[in-house]
Amino acid sequence: MSDCIFCKIINGEIPSAKVFENDDVLAFLDISQVTKGHTLVIPKIHKEDVFDLDTETAEKLFSVVPAISRALRSEFDLKGLNMINNNGSFAGQEVFHYHLHLVPRYDEKDGIQ
Ligand code: 5GP
Ligand code: ZN
Repeated sequence: MSDCIFCKIINGEIPSAKVFENDDVLAFLDISQVTKGHTLVIPKIHKEDVFDLDTETAEKLFSVVPAISRALRSEFDLKGLNMINNNGSFAGQEVFHYHLHLVPRYDEKDGIQ
C-alpha cells in the first residue's frame, strides 16, 4: 500500500534498524523504544490487522518469532519478553499494517529499562 509507513520500510523508502529479514517477514526496532530492544515483527505483504491476516501469512510470521526472541535475548540480556499486538484504533493501533511488538523486560535492579 503506497501510503503505509511499514510498506515504505519494507521497500526501503523509510530507513529502519533491521533485526531480522527473510522473504516473508521483517523485524526492526521500534522508533519509540518502550524498553531497550523493542522490536516490531511484520509480514512483508500488507495486512491491516489480525482480522485481515490469512493463515499462511500468520504461519510465516509466527514461525520466526521464537528465533527473533532468542536473538533479542542474546543481544540485550533481557529477563523476559512481552508480545503485544493492537488491532483497531479502539485497541490502540496506530499503524494499520499488522505488527507484533516484542518488548524486552529487564530486572529493575539492573537499572536497564
Ligand atoms: P501500534 O500503536 O500501531 O501498535 O504501534 C505502532 C508502532 O509503530 C509504535 O510503537 C511506533 O513507535 C512505531 N512506529 C511508527 N512509525 C515508525 C517508523 O517510521 N519507524 C519505526 N521503526 N517505528 C515506527
Ligand atoms: Zn503496509
